[in-house]
Amino acid sequence: MARQTADLVIENIGELVTCAGPADGICGDAIRTLETFTGGALAVTGGVIAAVGTGEEISNGFDARERVDAGGNLVTPGLVDPHSHLVYAGSRHDEWEFKVTGREGGADLQGGIHRSVGWTRAAADDDMRAQALADLDEMAAHGTTTLEAKTGYGLERETELRLLRLTASLEHPIEIIPTFLGAHVPPREFLDDTDAYVDLVIDMLPAAAELAEYCDVCCDPIGFSRDQCRRIGEQAKALGLGIRVHSDQTGDAEGGFLSAELGAASADHADYTTEAGFQAMAAAGTAAILFPGVTYHMMEMVPAFTEGGLAPAEKPFMPEVARRALDAGCVVALSTDYNPGSCPTLSMQATMQTAARLFRLGYAEIWHMSTLNAAASLGRGHDRGSLEPGKRADIVIWRVPEHGMVIHRFGTNLVDTVFIGGEKVVAEGRALA
Ligand SMILES: [Zn+2]
Repeated sequence: MARQTADLVIENIGELVTCAGPADGICGDAIRTLETFTGGALAVTGGVIAAVGTGEEISNGFDARERVDAGGNLVTPGLVDPHSHLVYAGSRHDEWEFKVTGREGGADLQGGIHRSVGWTRAAADDDMRAQALADLDEMAAHGTTTLEAKTGYGLERETELRLLRLTASLEHPIEIIPTFLGAHVPPREFLDDTDAYVDLVIDMLPAAAELAEYCDVCCDPIGFSRDQCRRIGEQAKALGLGIRVHSDQTGDAEGGFLSAELGAASADHADYTTEAGFQAMAAAGTAAILFPGVTYHMMEMVPAFTEGGLAPAEKPFMPEVARRALDAGCVVALSTDYNPGSCPTLSMQATMQTAARLFRLGYAEIWHMSTLNAAASLGRGHDRGSLEPGKRADIVIWRVPEHGMVIHRFGTNLVDTVFIGGEKVVAEGRALA
């Protein structure tokens, strides 16, 4: 075969993990197996992976404009983070200290999401844009190459649409998939009449549909009912939006069934989703997106919704949620849920590390859930999420030689180099300007 010319060849790879699998994600027993090569190499042309193989195959087959020596280290697909609340203002670190210590005196700090809403409504675009760009750099430095980003801290027409426009204006190598989450929680001014707020969200949909790819609804005892979410979801679908759902986080609101009914791309959180709810999701092709970072950060501080109202959760956390979703046959993905309250981490590495310990998942499961399955939940499984010829060259070179070490060695950034679409965007663990 004639030699080809590649833009980039990455060689001297210790372990090459492809995360290869079907475009709609990996489920069942297959998720426990990971395709790896020892001593591999890969070639990139036009921002796309041209070939993956042994070092010998690639060096015999390709001349390269640029060669990168992986130094015997691990090479994987870029990480895909399928759920974030990227654009907002303010920090709620003060209320978290009162919550974890149980100290008296934090009463005026208990506003939760509504505090963030107040700051976000008052914030200048430039300040929020600067913060979001800095956050994106940090995410890229930790290996994220594709991100879903939601609104949800406006909870009024003007600010919700402003957040969507701001998201669209972010120029960054990470591809951002925008989602409209007008129905995050009822805003303070509509706590007595949530149906009226649902009407307002439905009014926002035509303008939101110009800027967003998905519409998210929060089907949860502290969010909206199954019927309210269905009203919003059906209108959103009629306008061409895909559907994502914040589902059953503080109690079973039948979010799993609602997601299946709407043909949602994903149902996220799912802590209280029943076995039948997960089965409905699996049958409808709705992925389950889980947040071990929220479990770690909040534990019993995510209140459970009981007949008497919100109360401390009976179970401090729900380690079995991932196993229940997998056993039902769902495509399961992991995400940071990056947000100013329940999970302020930007790092998919931290997410993968906490997933192992808290959800008792194996390394292969975690890698598939953070790459191909996350891409599949965003309708991107055909063009990213794995290192296979024809896919986007979203590639991470790590500082460690084996994939299990990324999950075992928690607490430091183990990324060395990141390529997005074949372009180097991170070197020595830092985003390039
Ligand atoms: Zn969320």
